[in-house]
Amino acid sequence: MSDYVNVSEIFGENVFNDSVMRERLPKKVYAELKKTIEEGKDLDPSLADVIAHEMKEWAIDKGATHYTHWFQPMTGVTAEKHDSFITAPMPNGKVLMSFSGKELIKGEPDASSFPSGGLRATFEARGYTAWDCTSPAFVRYDAAGAILCIPTAFCSYKGEALDQKTPLLRSMQAINTQALRLLRLFGNTTSKRVTPSVGPEQEYFLVDKHKFLQREDLIFTGRTLFGAMPPKGQELEDHYFGTIRQKIAGYMKQVNEELWKMGVTAKTQHNEVAPAQHELAPIYAEANVAVDHNHIIMQTLKRVACQHGMHCLLHEKPFAGVNGSGKHNNWSLTTDDGINMLNPGRNPHKNLQFQVVLACILKAVDTHADLLRESAADPGNDHRLGANEAPPAIISIYLGEQLEDVLHQIIESGSANHSLTGEPLSTGVSTLPDFRKDATDRNRTSPFAFTGNKFEFRMVGSKDSISGPNVVLNTIVAEAFKEACDIMEGAEDLEMAAHGLVRKWFTEHERIVFNGNGYSDEWVEEAARRGLPNIRSMVEAIPSLVTDKAVKLFEEFGVFTKAELESRVEIKYESYAKVINIEAKTMIDMAKKTFIPAIMKYTTTLAQSITSLKAVGVEPEVQTEILNQLAGHLKEAQNALKKLEVITDAAIAVTDVAGQAKFYHDKVMPAMEALRAPIDAMEMLMDKRDWPMPTYSDLLFEVEGDF
Ligand code: ADP
Ligand code: MG
Repeated sequence: MSDYVNVSEIFGENVFNDSVMRERLPKKVYAELKKTIEEGKDLDPSLADVIAHEMKEWAIDKGATHYTHWFQPMTGVTAEKHDSFITAPMPNGKVLMSFSGKELIKGEPDASSFPSGGLRATFEARGYTAWDCTSPAFVRYDAAGAILCIPTAFCSYKGEALDQKTPLLRSMQAINTQALRLLRLFGNTTSKRVTPSVGPEQEYFLVDKHKFLQREDLIFTGRTLFGAMPPKGQELEDHYFGTIRQKIAGYMKQVNEELWKMGVTAKTQHNEVAPAQHELAPIYAEANVAVDHNHIIMQTLKRVACQHGMHCLLHEKPFAGVNGSGKHNNWSLTTDDGINMLNPGRNPHKNLQFQVVLACILKAVDTHADLLRESAADPGNDHRLGANEAPPAIISIYLGEQLEDVLHQIIESGSANHSLTGEPLSTGVSTLPDFRKDATDRNRTSPFAFTGNKFEFRMVGSKDSISGPNVVLNTIVAEAFKEACDIMEGAEDLEMAAHGLVRKWFTEHERIVFNGNGYSDEWVEEAARRGLPNIRSMVEAIPSLVTDKAVKLFEEFGVFTKAELESRVEIKYESYAKVINIEAKTMIDMAKKTFIPAIMKYTTTLAQSITSLKAVGVEPEVQTEILNQLAGHLKEAQNALKKLEVITDAAIAVTDVAGQAKFYHDKVMPAMEALRAPIDAMEMLMDKRDWPMPTYSDLLFEVEGDF
């Protein structure tokens, strides 16, 4: 049994969580800290020394040698610098272990090497990390030993956000304030706090590490830049929810156990649509913790894969032609006393508070569809959104039959008098249990779908932080709540005002509701008729961050200043240009140094065999045909290669960031495609043994033989 764990025993064992704090901290200190965590009260700095000391003692008991302020700069990944607990040696040559309150609450990493988007000049190198006590510290074990990780926010000397956490915490404050106002209007006097609940479903691919290491494209860019489709893709639909192969199962077991110990609620695991693709979902948590935990999940998936001889690909589109990876972001609003504001109850037609909440969300998403779209934009997701596997780049809302029916009743007559209910499910088999269906079916093609008591934003990229999408959701809904509360608080008759508001906003924003097939061409046309934006690429999406509408929104709720938004725009353009530049250079390198030489060698051998056959009087018809085909593609590849080199140099020379990003998108990307096509065609013509790197079949079906 030694290989089997008791989850309830190990869960959270490496987390400085509530029970550890209650046990270790003096009562008064514990109570004060709880107030900060639960009610957002300012933390008294004089308590920090006591907390730091106890945290250190606890961590050392766990074997920790170092601590780190763990933060989320705008690089897309987390950052950390380790400091050991040791102090300067004493006269007897021994050291003490120390960790002060100051070290707990404030860190000072050199900020000049992190993206700031012009918020600071390089000489202004100061940046601060500040302890986020609302996300618990934890000890992480790896080859470096045991490290006490302290989640922190990262900002500049002037307090400008340089990270993903600061705006998220600000947006959580905004939605808390406005949601409480709304609850109070409807008679709730008990709830003290409202937090967004977030459950992200993480998709990923696993490939053999040795094969991974033979592909420069995977190493440098996380995706394949070349590769012909294998004979089998995902068309049989046998991988989705299929039996998990033992090699993968062993991997998942270790991932789960490590996550549980760090307090991450790994819950669901299954095979995904594409071969070699899988998913892991935790149980939802407060947005802030969910974002941190998602980073821990991504790190753990990657690290454990290495230990199992595999590599975990988090890229949105590692393989052309098969499903890419995303991250469904489930979102709702929960009070500290357990009320889910997105729960419609059994009778949504009678639930006025829910109708107001829903009307606000429709208004928010319709008004700021461009911002939501932007929050899911990254270079990898450009390959996915709008392709036949992920929601289109058009934002719409799926409500399901029940809520859509309520919406229509209200739009038509001002009120609703019934809610559709789920019918009994009939399978025609007497031994199967009877149960009632949900009132609503699901729609997998919608980018923003109501799923019972939460919305599921399905556009988010698999590799991205989920902070951005949640910052947008929290802030746009806070704005709509504020507007609704301003109207309702000033009204003489609350109920009448609420009914009026619901009908007005349902009517005005009905255009964002779409229950049909989001993958169809008709929807693209229909959406255009409705005036909904269809923002196809990251480069097109970025400017939505700095429209007057966006600046007003984010400034009003203290989530971003205009300068912070401008800095993010710059960072995003730059990072887009850098990503495509690396991809283009990788393709040039691979074509020049690997593919073209291998093909030349192969064609030379083929030509020699043609000569030899002719010499003995055999007509080498097939050989000649293949040689001619290869020669044609080789020429095409060589020309495309030269063009890509020229165009990439031209891109590097563009000086303004927006222009440069656009140049990469409009000019470099098509030149990359033009190089890929002939190389992939040659892969299909050549002897597999002479192809210089693992193919799609090798990468995607590596564990097929394993059961
Ligand atoms: P699905 O609805 O996609 O089939 P689940 O119901 O299991 O799958 O939920 C997927 C994710 O949504 C999980 O992370 C789950 O914890 C989360 N989730 C469930 N309820 C809520 C909620 N009220 N708010 C936010 N996330 C939620
Ligand atoms: Mg889902």
